[in-house]
Amino acid sequence: MYPNRPCNAIDMNDVNNFESFLSTAKNLELYGGSAEPLLNPDLKKILAYLKSKYGTRMMVNTNASVLTKEYADLFVKYGFDYILVSYHAGTKDKYHELSTTGDIDNVNNNLQYLAERKLEAGKKKPFIEFNFALQKENATEATAVIDTAKRLNVSAVLINKYYGGRNKLQDKMVSYDYDTKQGNEELDKIYQYADKLGVHLKPTTPSHWAEKNEKPDWNNENYKKNSTCPFPWLNLFFDPVLDEKDSFYVSVCNRIVLCKINYRKLKLSKRADFMTLWNHPVFQYLRSTVNKEPLNPICKYCKNCDREKMRNTDANEYAKIRDNAVKSFFAEYRRNHSPAPVDGLEILDDNPFSDEKYLDKLNSQTTL
Ligand code: SF4
Repeated sequence: MYPNRPCNAIDMNDVNNFESFLSTAKNLELYGGSAEPLLNPDLKKILAYLKSKYGTRMMVNTNASVLTKEYADLFVKYGFDYILVSYHAGTKDKYHELSTTGDIDNVNNNLQYLAERKLEAGKKKPFIEFNFALQKENATEATAVIDTAKRLNVSAVLINKYYGGRNKLQDKMVSYDYDTKQGNEELDKIYQYADKLGVHLKPTTPSHWAEKNEKPDWNNENYKKNSTCPFPWLNLFFDPVLDEKDSFYVSVCNRIVLCKINYRKLKLSKRADFMTLWNHPVFQYLRSTVNKEPLNPICKYCKNCDREKMRNTDANEYAKIRDNAVKSFFAEYRRNHSPAPVDGLEILDDNPFSDEKYLDKLNSQTTL
Protein backbone atom coordinates (compact mmCIF):
# COMPACT_ATOMS: atom_id res chain seq x y z
CA MET A 1 0.00 0.00 0.00
CA TYR A 2 2.99 2.29 0.33
CA PRO A 3 5.13 1.50 -2.71
CA ASN A 4 7.24 4.63 -2.27
CA ARG A 5 7.42 4.54 1.47
CA PRO A 6 10.52 6.10 2.97
CA CYS A 7 12.57 3.71 5.10
CA ASN A 8 12.66 6.05 8.09
CA ALA A 9 15.60 4.04 9.39
CA ILE A 10 17.37 5.81 12.22
CA ASP A 11 21.16 6.10 12.24
CA MET A 12 23.77 7.02 14.85
CA ASN A 13 23.07 10.75 14.38
CA ASP A 14 19.46 10.15 15.30
CA VAL A 15 20.49 8.12 18.32
CA ASN A 16 22.66 11.06 19.43
CA ASN A 17 19.70 13.35 18.81
CA PHE A 18 17.55 11.14 21.08
CA GLU A 19 20.32 10.70 23.63
CA SER A 20 18.66 12.78 26.35
CA PHE A 21 16.11 10.05 26.94
CA LEU A 22 17.95 7.03 25.55
CA SER A 23 20.62 7.65 28.20
CA THR A 24 18.07 7.17 30.98
CA ALA A 25 15.78 4.62 29.30
CA LYS A 26 15.73 1.37 31.22
CA ASN A 27 14.42 -0.68 28.36
CA LEU A 28 14.36 -0.35 24.56
CA GLU A 29 12.09 -2.61 22.53
CA LEU A 30 12.30 -2.80 18.75
CA TYR A 31 9.18 -4.18 17.15
CA GLY A 32 8.46 -5.47 13.67
CA GLY A 33 5.06 -5.01 12.09
CA SER A 34 5.66 -1.92 10.01
CA ALA A 35 9.33 -2.76 9.44
CA GLU A 36 11.83 -5.51 10.24
CA PRO A 37 14.17 -4.01 12.87
CA LEU A 38 17.20 -6.13 11.89
CA LEU A 39 17.18 -4.61 8.40
CA ASN A 40 18.25 -1.24 9.77
CA PRO A 41 21.80 -0.83 8.40
CA ASP A 42 22.97 0.97 11.57
CA LEU A 43 21.40 -1.29 14.17
CA LYS A 44 24.60 -3.16 15.01
CA LYS A 45 26.39 0.10 15.76
CA ILE A 46 23.40 1.42 17.71
CA LEU A 47 23.03 -1.58 19.96
CA ALA A 48 26.77 -1.83 20.64
CA TYR A 49 26.78 1.87 21.58
CA LEU A 50 23.75 1.74 23.89
CA LYS A 51 24.77 -1.52 25.54
CA SER A 52 28.34 -0.47 26.24
CA LYS A 53 27.60 3.14 27.22
CA TYR A 54 24.33 2.80 29.15
CA GLY A 55 23.74 -0.93 29.64
CA THR A 56 20.22 -0.48 28.25
CA ARG A 57 18.04 -3.57 28.40
CA MET A 58 17.18 -4.38 24.79
CA MET A 59 14.59 -6.50 23.04
CA VAL A 60 13.77 -7.14 19.41
CA ASN A 61 10.76 -8.71 17.71
CA THR A 62 11.85 -10.27 14.44
CA ASN A 63 11.04 -13.09 12.04
CA ALA A 64 14.75 -14.05 12.35
CA SER A 65 15.19 -14.38 8.59
CA VAL A 66 18.04 -11.85 8.68
CA LEU A 67 19.37 -12.81 12.09
CA THR A 68 22.79 -13.33 10.55
CA LYS A 69 25.90 -14.81 12.14
CA GLU A 70 27.21 -11.29 12.58
CA TYR A 71 24.11 -10.34 14.54
CA ALA A 72 24.25 -13.53 16.60
CA ASP A 73 27.91 -12.91 17.55
CA LEU A 74 27.12 -9.34 18.49
CA PHE A 75 24.03 -10.29 20.51
CA VAL A 76 26.05 -12.79 22.54
CA LYS A 77 29.02 -10.44 22.95
CA TYR A 78 26.98 -7.50 24.27
CA GLY A 79 24.46 -9.53 26.28
CA PHE A 80 21.48 -8.45 24.17
CA ASP A 81 18.55 -9.39 26.36
CA TYR A 82 15.59 -10.82 24.56
CA ILE A 83 14.49 -11.90 21.07
CA LEU A 84 10.83 -12.58 20.31
CA VAL A 85 10.61 -14.55 17.08
CA SER A 86 7.38 -14.42 15.08
CA TYR A 87 6.92 -18.14 14.42
CA HIS A 88 3.43 -18.94 13.20
CA ALA A 89 4.06 -22.27 11.46
CA GLY A 90 6.43 -25.17 12.01
CA THR A 91 6.53 -26.99 8.66
CA LYS A 92 8.25 -25.91 5.50
CA ASP A 93 5.16 -25.56 3.31
CA LYS A 94 2.91 -23.82 5.82
CA TYR A 95 5.68 -21.48 6.86
CA HIS A 96 6.22 -20.57 3.24
CA GLU A 97 2.50 -19.92 2.84
CA LEU A 98 2.06 -17.82 5.98
CA SER A 99 5.30 -15.93 6.27
CA THR A 100 6.49 -13.08 4.11
CA THR A 101 10.06 -14.36 4.14
CA GLY A 102 9.07 -17.93 3.52
CA ASP A 103 12.13 -20.04 4.30
CA ILE A 104 11.86 -21.91 7.59
CA ASP A 105 15.21 -23.69 7.12
CA ASN A 106 16.96 -20.34 6.95
CA VAL A 107 15.23 -19.14 10.11
CA ASN A 108 15.99 -22.38 11.99
CA ASN A 109 19.64 -22.32 10.89
CA ASN A 110 19.98 -18.74 12.14
CA LEU A 111 18.49 -19.69 15.51
CA GLN A 112 20.60 -22.83 15.70
CA TYR A 113 23.78 -20.80 15.17
CA LEU A 114 22.75 -18.37 17.90
CA ALA A 115 21.97 -21.23 20.31
CA GLU A 116 25.43 -22.74 19.65
CA ARG A 117 27.22 -19.42 20.20
CA LYS A 118 25.42 -18.96 23.53
CA LEU A 119 26.39 -22.45 24.62
CA GLU A 120 30.01 -21.94 23.58
CA ALA A 121 30.23 -18.63 25.45
CA GLY A 122 28.38 -20.02 28.49
CA LYS A 123 25.81 -17.20 28.21
CA LYS A 124 22.06 -17.33 28.81
CA LYS A 125 21.34 -14.16 26.85
CA PRO A 126 19.69 -13.38 24.58
CA PHE A 127 16.63 -15.26 25.78
CA ILE A 128 14.66 -16.50 22.78
CA GLU A 129 10.90 -16.94 22.69
CA PHE A 130 8.55 -17.88 19.86
CA ASN A 131 5.34 -16.00 19.22
CA PHE A 132 2.60 -18.27 17.85
CA ALA A 133 -0.79 -16.74 17.00
CA LEU A 134 -3.29 -19.58 16.84
CA GLN A 135 -5.85 -19.52 14.04
CA LYS A 136 -7.63 -22.04 11.83
CA GLU A 137 -4.91 -22.17 9.16
CA ASN A 138 -2.07 -22.99 11.54
CA ALA A 139 -3.67 -25.03 14.36
CA THR A 140 -2.12 -28.27 13.10
CA GLU A 141 1.28 -26.56 13.01
CA ALA A 142 1.48 -26.09 16.76
CA THR A 143 3.11 -29.48 17.44
CA ALA A 144 5.88 -28.77 14.90
CA VAL A 145 6.42 -25.32 16.44
CA ILE A 146 6.74 -26.89 19.89
CA ASP A 147 9.12 -29.57 18.54
CA THR A 148 11.39 -26.87 17.11
CA ALA A 149 11.21 -24.86 20.33
CA LYS A 150 12.41 -27.95 22.19
CA ARG A 151 15.19 -28.69 19.71
CA LEU A 152 16.49 -25.12 19.68
CA ASN A 153 16.21 -24.74 23.44
CA VAL A 154 13.83 -21.80 23.13
CA SER A 155 12.85 -20.39 26.56
CA ALA A 156 9.09 -20.26 25.91
CA VAL A 157 6.39 -20.23 23.26
CA LEU A 158 3.84 -17.44 23.54
CA ILE A 159 0.41 -18.75 22.62
CA ASN A 160 -1.71 -15.89 21.34
CA LYS A 161 -5.16 -15.88 19.82
CA TYR A 162 -5.13 -14.47 16.32
CA TYR A 163 -8.13 -12.17 16.03
CA GLY A 164 -7.73 -10.36 12.75
CA GLY A 165 -5.52 -8.00 10.84
CA ARG A 166 -5.08 -6.06 7.65
CA ASN A 167 -3.85 -8.98 5.60
CA LYS A 168 -5.00 -11.67 3.21
CA LEU A 169 -6.14 -14.03 6.00
CA GLN A 170 -8.91 -11.64 6.95
CA ASP A 171 -11.20 -12.77 4.10
CA LYS A 172 -10.94 -16.40 5.17
CA MET A 173 -12.29 -15.72 8.68
CA VAL A 174 -9.49 -17.77 10.21
CA SER A 175 -9.96 -16.51 13.76
CA TYR A 176 -11.34 -18.96 16.34
CA ASP A 177 -13.49 -16.10 17.58
CA TYR A 178 -15.87 -17.48 14.96
CA ASP A 179 -15.69 -20.98 16.49
CA THR A 180 -14.73 -20.75 20.13
CA LYS A 181 -15.51 -24.40 21.01
CA GLN A 182 -13.06 -25.65 18.39
CA GLY A 183 -10.54 -22.99 19.41
CA ASN A 184 -10.63 -24.13 23.04
CA GLU A 185 -10.10 -27.75 21.99
CA GLU A 186 -7.07 -26.73 19.93
CA LEU A 187 -5.68 -24.76 22.87
CA ASP A 188 -6.04 -27.77 25.16
CA LYS A 189 -4.24 -30.02 22.66
CA ILE A 190 -1.36 -27.54 22.41
CA TYR A 191 -0.92 -27.35 26.18
CA GLN A 192 -1.07 -31.14 26.57
CA TYR A 193 1.58 -31.62 23.88
CA ALA A 194 3.91 -28.96 25.33
CA ASP A 195 3.52 -30.47 28.78
CA LYS A 196 4.55 -33.88 27.45
CA LEU A 197 7.68 -32.38 25.88
CA GLY A 198 8.47 -30.08 28.79
CA VAL A 199 8.25 -26.91 26.66
CA HIS A 200 7.29 -23.80 28.59
CA LEU A 201 4.23 -21.95 27.26
CA LYS A 202 3.03 -18.44 28.05
CA PRO A 203 0.48 -18.02 29.54
CA THR A 204 1.16 -21.11 31.63
CA THR A 205 -2.46 -22.28 31.40
CA PRO A 206 -4.67 -21.97 28.30
CA SER A 207 -6.52 -18.70 28.01
CA HIS A 208 -9.81 -20.10 26.76
CA TRP A 209 -12.42 -18.23 24.77
CA ALA A 210 -15.64 -17.56 26.63
CA GLU A 211 -18.20 -20.16 25.56
CA LYS A 212 -20.71 -17.56 24.48
CA ASN A 213 -19.12 -14.69 22.65
CA GLU A 214 -22.15 -12.53 21.96
CA LYS A 215 -21.86 -8.95 20.82
CA PRO A 216 -22.24 -6.67 23.87
CA ASP A 217 -24.52 -3.63 24.13
CA TRP A 218 -21.87 -0.96 24.18
CA ASN A 219 -22.16 1.58 26.97
CA ASN A 220 -19.47 4.26 27.24
CA GLU A 221 -19.97 4.48 31.00
CA ASN A 222 -19.46 0.77 31.66
CA TYR A 223 -15.74 1.00 32.43
CA LYS A 224 -13.49 -0.29 35.20
CA LYS A 225 -13.64 2.60 37.63
CA ASN A 226 -10.82 1.39 39.88
CA SER A 227 -8.30 0.39 37.25
CA THR A 228 -5.09 2.42 37.33
CA CYS A 229 -2.94 2.81 34.25
CA PRO A 230 0.74 3.80 34.68
CA PHE A 231 1.59 3.89 30.94
CA PRO A 232 1.74 7.69 30.36
CA TRP A 233 4.54 7.99 32.95
CA LEU A 234 6.58 5.00 31.82
CA ASN A 235 6.49 4.60 28.06
CA LEU A 236 7.20 6.22 24.76
CA PHE A 237 6.15 4.47 21.57
CA PHE A 238 7.64 5.48 18.22
CA ASP A 239 6.03 4.27 15.00
CA PRO A 240 7.49 5.07 11.60
CA VAL A 241 5.22 7.23 9.43
CA LEU A 242 4.89 5.30 6.20
CA ASP A 243 4.27 8.18 3.82
CA GLU A 244 6.48 10.89 5.27
CA LYS A 245 10.25 11.00 5.49
CA ASP A 246 12.15 11.19 8.82
CA SER A 247 8.95 11.06 10.81
CA PHE A 248 7.57 9.06 13.70
CA TYR A 249 4.21 8.92 15.36
CA VAL A 250 4.69 9.17 19.12
CA SER A 251 2.44 7.84 21.85
CA VAL A 252 2.50 6.32 25.33
CA CYS A 253 0.45 3.24 24.51
CA ASN A 254 -0.96 1.56 21.45
CA ARG A 255 -4.52 2.88 21.83
CA ILE A 256 -3.83 6.41 20.70
CA VAL A 257 -1.11 8.28 18.80
CA LEU A 258 -0.61 11.69 20.36
CA CYS A 259 1.68 13.46 17.92
CA LYS A 260 3.90 13.25 14.89
CA ILE A 261 7.52 14.32 15.09
CA ASN A 262 10.09 15.00 12.44
CA TYR A 263 13.22 13.67 14.11
CA ARG A 264 15.57 15.68 11.93
CA LYS A 265 13.87 18.92 13.03
CA LEU A 266 12.94 18.25 16.64
CA LYS A 267 16.12 18.25 18.70
CA LEU A 268 16.00 15.99 21.72
CA SER A 269 19.65 15.59 22.57
CA LYS A 270 19.48 17.70 25.72
CA ARG A 271 17.24 16.96 28.66
CA ALA A 272 15.56 20.37 28.50
CA ASP A 273 14.68 19.79 24.82
CA PHE A 274 13.28 16.39 25.59
CA MET A 275 10.95 17.90 28.21
CA THR A 276 9.32 19.84 25.37
CA LEU A 277 8.04 16.52 24.13
CA TRP A 278 7.66 14.58 27.40
CA ASN A 279 5.81 17.38 29.19
CA HIS A 280 3.93 18.72 26.18
CA PRO A 281 0.39 19.76 27.23
CA VAL A 282 -1.12 16.87 25.25
CA PHE A 283 0.89 14.35 27.32
CA GLN A 284 -0.01 16.23 30.51
CA TYR A 285 -3.69 16.26 29.55
CA LEU A 286 -3.60 12.48 29.11
CA ARG A 287 -1.78 12.02 32.44
CA SER A 288 -4.20 14.20 34.34
CA THR A 289 -7.27 12.39 32.98
CA VAL A 290 -6.17 8.75 32.70
CA ASN A 291 -6.97 7.71 36.27
CA LYS A 292 -8.92 10.69 37.61
CA GLU A 293 -12.53 11.68 36.88
CA PRO A 294 -13.63 12.92 34.49
CA LEU A 295 -11.65 10.38 32.45
CA ASN A 296 -10.68 11.39 28.93
CA PRO A 297 -12.64 9.59 26.16
CA ILE A 298 -9.89 7.23 24.95
CA CYS A 299 -8.96 5.96 28.44
CA LYS A 300 -12.65 5.48 29.18
CA TYR A 301 -12.91 3.39 26.01
CA CYS A 302 -9.71 1.50 26.85
CA LYS A 303 -11.01 0.56 30.30
CA ASN A 304 -14.47 -0.41 29.06
CA CYS A 305 -15.54 -3.80 30.46
CA ASP A 306 -16.80 -4.94 27.04
CA ARG A 307 -13.90 -3.75 24.91
CA GLU A 308 -12.31 -7.19 24.32
CA LYS A 309 -15.66 -8.80 23.70
CA MET A 310 -16.59 -6.11 21.19
CA ARG A 311 -13.26 -6.58 19.39
CA ASN A 312 -13.88 -10.32 19.12
CA THR A 313 -17.48 -10.11 17.98
CA ASP A 314 -17.63 -7.04 15.73
CA ALA A 315 -14.25 -5.74 14.59
CA ASN A 316 -15.77 -2.95 12.47
CA GLU A 317 -17.91 -1.59 15.27
CA TYR A 318 -14.96 -1.87 17.63
CA ALA A 319 -12.78 0.20 15.30
CA LYS A 320 -15.51 2.80 14.84
CA ILE A 321 -15.94 3.27 18.60
CA ARG A 322 -12.15 3.52 19.05
CA ASP A 323 -11.72 6.06 16.26
CA ASN A 324 -14.55 8.21 17.64
CA ALA A 325 -12.98 8.06 21.10
CA VAL A 326 -9.67 9.27 19.63
CA LYS A 327 -11.43 12.17 17.88
CA SER A 328 -13.24 13.11 21.10
CA PHE A 329 -9.94 12.99 23.01
CA PHE A 330 -8.38 15.59 20.72
CA ALA A 331 -11.54 17.72 20.66
CA GLU A 332 -11.58 17.79 24.49
CA TYR A 333 -7.87 18.54 24.60
CA ARG A 334 -8.21 21.45 22.15
CA ARG A 335 -11.16 22.89 24.03
CA ASN A 336 -8.86 23.75 26.94
CA HIS A 337 -5.38 23.95 25.45
CA SER A 338 -3.75 25.98 22.72
CA PRO A 339 -0.01 25.49 23.24
CA ALA A 340 2.67 27.38 21.33
CA PRO A 341 3.77 25.56 18.16
CA VAL A 342 7.01 23.55 18.33
CA ASP A 343 9.08 23.10 15.18
CA GLY A 344 9.01 19.41 14.14
CA LEU A 345 6.12 18.46 16.45
CA GLU A 346 2.52 18.20 15.30
CA ILE A 347 -0.42 17.29 17.54
CA LEU A 348 -2.91 15.06 15.75
CA ASP A 349 -6.71 15.34 15.40
CA ASP A 350 -7.63 11.72 14.87
CA ASN A 351 -6.31 8.18 14.52
CA PRO A 352 -3.79 7.99 11.64
CA PHE A 353 -4.35 4.20 11.52
CA SER A 354 -8.17 4.37 11.47
CA ASP A 355 -10.17 1.92 9.36
CA GLU A 356 -11.63 4.90 7.49
CA LYS A 357 -8.17 6.04 6.37
CA TYR A 358 -7.08 2.48 5.66
CA LEU A 359 -10.08 1.87 3.39
CA ASP A 360 -9.58 5.19 1.60
CA LYS A 361 -5.99 4.21 0.92
CA LEU A 362 -7.00 0.72 -0.18
CA ASN A 363 -9.66 2.09 -2.56
CA SER A 364 -7.29 4.64 -4.07
CA GLN A 365 -4.78 1.82 -4.72
CA THR A 366 -7.48 -0.32 -6.34
CA THR A 367 -8.55 2.59 -8.56
CA LEU A 368 -4.94 3.13 -9.67
S1 SF4 B 1 -5.59 4.52 26.49
FE1 SF4 B 1 -5.30 5.39 28.54
S2 SF4 B 1 -5.83 3.71 29.92
FE2 SF4 B 1 -5.43 2.81 27.92
S3 SF4 B 1 -3.28 2.19 27.94
FE3 SF4 B 1 -3.43 4.24 27.02
S4 SF4 B 1 -3.10 5.65 28.71
FE4 SF4 B 1 -3.61 3.68 29.62
